[in-house]
Amino acid sequence: MPLRPRRCAHCDTDFQPRRRTARFCSARCRVAAHRAVRRVLDPPPVRVRLTVDELYLLRDGVGLLVDAGQQDAQALFDRLGALLDAMD
Ligand SMILES: [Zn+2]
Repeated sequence: MPLRPRRCAHCDTDFQPRRRTARFCSARCRVAAHRAVRRVLDPPPVRVRLTVDELYLLRDGVGLLVDAGQQDAQALFDRLGALLDAMD
């Protein structure tokens, strides 16, 4: 018995499935849908560029955490200091 037409899960057009589990009208839509999911689950890194003033502010903020006893913040404070030294 032929399967009933169904709607593609990616492009919303009706298609005639050849398999009972088919969700997409074509390999192209199947790949595109997979890539769309990957873009959400694994987005490319966002690059942020900070000014020198913003780096100093960040380092000073991390310094407050160090002063408050956040030992984990010391390494970040040191790295920010090294970064700022390299920029001078
Ligand atoms: Zn489609």
